[in-house]
Amino acid sequence: MKTPTKVGAGGTAALLQNRLASLHEELARTTAAAAPVELDQTTQGRLSRMDAIQQQAMAASLAERLRTEIRKTDAALDRVADGRYGECCRCGEAIAAERLAADLAAPFCADCVKE
Ligand SMILES: [Zn+2]
Repeated sequence: MKTPTKVGAGGTAALLQNRLASLHEELARTTAAAAPVELDQTTQGRLSRMDAIQQQAMAASLAERLRTEIRKTDAALDRVADGRYGECCRCGEAIAAERLAADLAAPFCADCVKE
């Protein structure tokens, strides 16, 4: 019988990988929505074109947030592989469990994120 030394470490990696997969999916959808606005006047009136431009801008900023989240999740997975998951990237102290429960990929402890 194998006894896992770190309870939940494998589960955390799986959760992070799931999160990463859904982030990539969302990014793919968002990138499609952020594609250049079709300027065909015959199919789109002036107002709907402005709507489309506004939606495109929103999609672009969402895509940017998703890319940041993907980098953060990637980094958390690296830390799982290194056995440093749950340690603050700045001070090395353990990140509070409730903090990690709220954000699995949290890179800093509550003290460091305040600074
Ligand atoms: Zn810290």
